[in-house]
Amino acid sequence: MVDFKIHFLGTSSAVPTKERGMSCIGISYENVLAFFDCGEGSQRAINEAGLGFNKECVVFITHMHGDHVVGLLGLLQTMSMNRRQKKLHIFGPKGIVDFVRMNKAILKFGLTFEVLVSEIKPGLVYNNPKFRVFAAEAEHSTESFAYVFEEAEKPGKFNTKKALKLGIPEGPLWSKLQHGSRVVSPKNGESVRPEQVLGPSRKCKRIGISGDTRPSKKLMGFFKGCDVLVFDSTYSDVHAENARENKHSTSREAATFARKARVKKLILTHFSARYRSVSTLVRQARKEFPLSFAAHDGMVYDVSLES
Ligand SMILES: [Zn+2]
Ligand SMILES: [Zn+2]
Repeated sequence: MVDFKIHFLGTSSAVPTKERGMSCIGISYENVLAFFDCGEGSQRAINEAGLGFNKECVVFITHMHGDHVVGLLGLLQTMSMNRRQKKLHIFGPKGIVDFVRMNKAILKFGLTFEVLVSEIKPGLVYNNPKFRVFAAEAEHSTESFAYVFEEAEKPGKFNTKKALKLGIPEGPLWSKLQHGSRVVSPKNGESVRPEQVLGPSRKCKRIGISGDTRPSKKLMGFFKGCDVLVFDSTYSDVHAENARENKHSTSREAATFARKARVKKLILTHFSARYRSVSTLVRQARKEFPLSFAAHDGMVYDVSLES
């Protein structure tokens, strides 16, 4: 089973509370880390979660509000203190390149590793053999992106008996078939197609991360059918007006959105500091979508257990 987990590292909006730190979500996938947002103090939460600072890692910023981006500076410095050698790539909206460059210059910090920073557009943002990350425009008070983290397609099960029957001996030819290439049987000279020996390709899981946003039509298409959706849930029903004004969502709006987008599970986050407990928000959400849950700092969600 693959290691595929979501780590909730900071679940507060705007200001930290005793229980909740600033926005940061980590996805660990087979020893590769992807962070979504990096609010102040994220490096402390990353350390407490035991995720380490030297792994292969990539960072996606949703938007240039302090509570989502200021922690990058601390994270870079902590990584450097840990003698990181591996390159780090940061993706984000317009302004992210200047933010990193200028702060590095003003604070005069040297790094032990290379940092690449890219300003993104909606669409495919990042691609490696293990996973892909897509971005779409969210609806917030400044340019903001939502992200989808998608596992790379997994080929179907290789049927060794069939391969042998078709005259393909174990070895490099099996590997070629597993990677989608046709081969010729050394025994009978006949061509064998991958479909003849591979089962149906296995379903890739998709995780949606909304960042700060109103529920929007554009995001509805983007998040359709996600296995897990992590959505802005800044307010409860009584503060619905604040949600509209500040371009955030209530937990009920997040849940209505999740139901319509036919996602399998909803995890609420980015709670206003005015709520010590978020059980009211969860209750309101469950009226619309029963599979709604609240994130809390330090929570780990094991995606590999999802059927
Ligand atoms: Zn925020
Ligand atoms: Zn914001």
